[in-house]
Amino acid sequence: METLPGKTVERLSQYRRRLLNLLEENKEFIFSHELAEILQITAVQVRRDLMLLGYSSVYRKGYPIRKLIEVIGTRLDNVKGQNVAIIGMGNLGMALSHYLYGIRPKLNIVAAFDIDKEKIGKTIAGIECFGMDRLDSTIRTMDISIGVMTVPQFAALEVAKLVVKSGIKGILNFTHIPLHVPSDIYLEEYDMITSLEKVAYFVKELDSQ
Ligand code: NAD
Repeated sequence: METLPGKTVERLSQYRRRLLNLLEENKEFIFSHELAEILQITAVQVRRDLMLLGYSSVYRKGYPIRKLIEVIGTRLDNVKGQNVAIIGMGNLGMALSHYLYGIRPKLNIVAAFDIDKEKIGKTIAGIECFGMDRLDSTIRTMDISIGVMTVPQFAALEVAKLVVKSGIKGILNFTHIPLHVPSDIYLEEYDMITSLEKVAYFVKELDSQ
């Protein structure tokens, strides 16, 4: 099966989140135009994405939501689940651990790493915190494939080198330092400041109209 483009993966993740909410509200079926309206995209886009999953609506009532969630999960999730580590258990690391804990059954936050002696050996936000000297061995023994980097900027490059060497397969980088990693590692950079500045820019534009 072909690898999906990143943007499609983002939309599928968003569809699933909305569909899970709708299921909680006891809604059973949804039309592509309804899902499109919720996400402010076109119905054509929704149908195109779902067709990529080999799923087209032949139902007069729309797509069955539970089945749709299952189909998206089949494509996005690793069947046996994936283990995630937080590297840098400070303010953001802890906030993410709290937020992400149990949010997706196939993504398990199983460990944290830090250099702070006050944190090492403790369970913080429900997650055991290890010293950086245990990075390689813990990543191997706990079968951790994803690292979330929340260390200070000054430590980002040095920590990234260690993370790459540890055998991790994917990195979500929250530090504002752009990283360069080998092509067999998937890297995603996340920057809240860019999002905030984007909002600020458009608010400024609205103000000047
Ligand atoms: P923090 O100081 O509260 O936490 C950093 C943690 O990293 C601490 O626990 C510290 O002991 C640990 N650490 C320091 N050096 C380390 C090393 N070499 N190896 C392992 N652990 C180490 O900082 P914070 O407020 O949680 O922010 C963390 C990072 O996230 C910063 O780089 C910050 O700029 C960034 N940030 C990004 C976003 C975003 O949207 N991308 C938002 C907020 C913060």
